Amino acid sequence: MKKIAVFNSGSSSLKCKVFAYPSKELLFCKTIERIGEDGAAVQTHSEALEALEIDFASLDGIGHRVVHGAEHLQESVLIDSDVMETIKELIPLAPLHNPANLEGIEVAVKKAPHIPQVAVFDTAFHATMQEEAYLYALPYELYEKEGIRRYGFHGTSHAYLTKEAAKMLNKTLSQLNIITLHLGNGASACAVKNGKSIDTSMGFTPLEGLVMGTRCGDLDAAIVLYLQNKLGKSREEVEHILNKESGLKGLCGENDFRKIIAREDKYAKIAFNIMVRRIQKYIGSYIVLLEDIDAIVFSGGIGEHSKLLRDAVMQNALLKNIEVLVIQTDEELEIANECYRVIKEKV
Ligand code: AMP
Repeated sequence: MKKIAVFNSGSSSLKCKVFAYPSKELLFCKTIERIGEDGAAVQTHSEALEALEIDFASLDGIGHRVVHGAEHLQESVLIDSDVMETIKELIPLAPLHNPANLEGIEVAVKKAPHIPQVAVFDTAFHATMQEEAYLYALPYELYEKEGIRRYGFHGTSHAYLTKEAAKMLNKTLSQLNIITLHLGNGASACAVKNGKSIDTSMGFTPLEGLVMGTRCGDLDAAIVLYLQNKLGKSREEVEHILNKESGLKGLCGENDFRKIIAREDKYAKIAFNIMVRRIQKYIGSYIVLLEDIDAIVFSGGIGEHSKLLRDAVMQNALLKNIEVLVIQTDEELEIANECYRVIKEKV
């Protein structure tokens, strides 16, 4: 038996799962939260690693979630100093995520330098998108010089859902045309043609696309200029409004979907309706791109648990004959699978 640990390192949390291979049995799961916060017992990622209390010597590999690999890192890779340097160079593209991911890698590499460690990227599944999907209609040099393009995120989840859907529909990946909806506090849609991502709703950052818990999703970019120029908001304030005060929370005051659907007031209803309509717009456009669709997959806390939301989305004459699959996503298991595969191939 081989043991693969997965680390999902956020700015104030470290989540760890350990799986046995080849059985994929979950052996261990622990999350250290509030890292670095006032009064918290654990102040650094290094202390968090110790607080996990895992026996590093027993591990055969460690897989790390990394949000942004950009065009440089388009598939899971064995971590070495070059890979760590590249993840560092990509921080301007993912200032909210890559620093914490890198910190998790750095402390784990220091703690267990002899164990092979693999970086698995949220952007990797979307590396198959073509220019028509990933370019914005901006001056081309902004793409060439600055890397401004759609990258897409939640790729580990969309990849997992795609493989699970193929099993459930008894199809090979190359036969599979589906739309995957990861609907949690963060939310994204993906058009999967012949098992590959051809388009996705998150873009240059995870801000674009669907209505999320606290993120606005699609927006007229001129609103950002208006907030700055007319209302005098600073760059930080605008960033905060769009990422933390918008979406469901902005519309009705809270982002806990369970509470929203229990409410009767007009703000909760409008938040629900706008979320449903945005999902339907993406489904409609993706069906046109796919030309043929086997199923729509719902996942994430909302997609998986809220039949109300699923029924509202599917209540449309054009969607009535499309099969609906509800699949519990497991990003950590997908990262472990990738880690196990890469180690088998490369070590
Ligand atoms: P996630 O980010 O995937 O953990 O999803 C979090 C979201 O899922 C929150 O908005 C929760 O309120 C929502 N959620 C979790 N369980 C349920 C449920 N049983 N019914 C409706 N929404 C739920």
